[in-house]
Amino acid sequence: MCVASVALKQLVWACAAVVLVASSASGWASAGRVPFLRPLGEAVAAVAATLTGDAEKTQLVFTLSRDVAARAFLMDRPDRVIVDLPEVNFHLPANAGQNRAGVVSSFRYGLFAPGRSRIVIDLAQPALVSRIDAAAGDDGFSLLRIELTRVDRLAFRKAVETSPAAMTASRSAQPAGRSDARPLVVIDPGHGGIDPGAVTAGGAHEKDIVFGFADRLRRRLESTSRYRVLMTRDQDVFLPLDERVRIARDAKADLFVSIHADSISAAPHVRGFTVYTGSEQASDKESQRLAERENKADAAAGLDPEGSPGDVADILQDLTLRETRSFSQRFAQKLVGAIDPVMALSKKPQRQAAFRVLRAPDVPSVLVELGYLSSREDIDLLLSEAWRDRSTAAMAAAIDRFFATRMAGRPAAPVSP
Ligand code: ZN
Repeated sequence: MCVASVALKQLVWACAAVVLVASSASGWASAGRVPFLRPLGEAVAAVAATLTGDAEKTQLVFTLSRDVAARAFLMDRPDRVIVDLPEVNFHLPANAGQNRAGVVSSFRYGLFAPGRSRIVIDLAQPALVSRIDAAAGDDGFSLLRIELTRVDRLAFRKAVETSPAAMTASRSAQPAGRSDARPLVVIDPGHGGIDPGAVTAGGAHEKDIVFGFADRLRRRLESTSRYRVLMTRDQDVFLPLDERVRIARDAKADLFVSIHADSISAAPHVRGFTVYTGSEQASDKESQRLAERENKADAAAGLDPEGSPGDVADILQDLTLRETRSFSQRFAQKLVGAIDPVMALSKKPQRQAAFRVLRAPDVPSVLVELGYLSSREDIDLLLSEAWRDRSTAAMAAAIDRFFATRMAGRPAAPVSP
């Protein structure tokens, strides 16, 4: 419902057209100003970000549709400033965070948890938040100003120590019902929200590409009625790695599939599909490096990696883990066989490494790298509807084969109509 008397400050998408007509009639448009359109309802929108500064002081200013409460704190190794906000929709150019100025080398932004957004500012030099405030901008917009002042390493370290602890993100998915005896497949779209994962030369984010694939796979599996399916995230939201594992374990998943896409910008000719299973001992150097990179996802979102407890070393759990990993490998093998006809495989398509998301001792788990975002051919495939259709079908076939052997000897699972 749009009321003609609505002030431009409260302009929303739903009534933008009406207001524009009303505005030009009153001569407002003839002033030559281009109106900003605000998003619907309560959501706050960020429509611009500017970074300016010199060696001493740097200012990062976000133009927001209204004032928000912001809270900043510091983290080191790597040095970062984290700014927590209520949910903000960032309508910014894809490469907005790639600028550098003063003490800032880059910045990221996005949804951190339902209802909460975050800005992570990477520092080229140690710096403190000397000011964070809201000021009135043009046309009723609010400017969130974050001012950073360079300090020496010692002062930065002291400030980090007294900085409040990083908040933990809350889970976004609920366990599926347990009365249903069909196998439960947990699909884990990698990254999300504040953590974009790999970024293509054209600005596309791994988090979006893998979400599209995961959602297609979910629909395909559900359409067979043979499985219960749970997504670790069902929207563009950050989720800590251990939380993904916990969702699968709490729901007593029978299979966990984490979906990612790799990138090696120095080798644009490298391409193909790879499936990884968990192992403390990496199968090769490249896999080890990849696991290290993927394991940094929490740090990229401003979570303290030491804040998450590791698995308890327990001999029973160890035995379970070993048995589970042999199931994971069996599934990985079936997956490679099924994908082979629809996608180029990487040089060594089945590998192992110490991925943090592959540590559930009781859930067979794999992590797939669909392809390389640094390869033009792979991106074209990954973004093509036809390929998504073929590859999710192949993956579903591998899941069928895995459960056909796993479930042999178990009472037949009821199949819903
Ligand atoms: Zn990834």
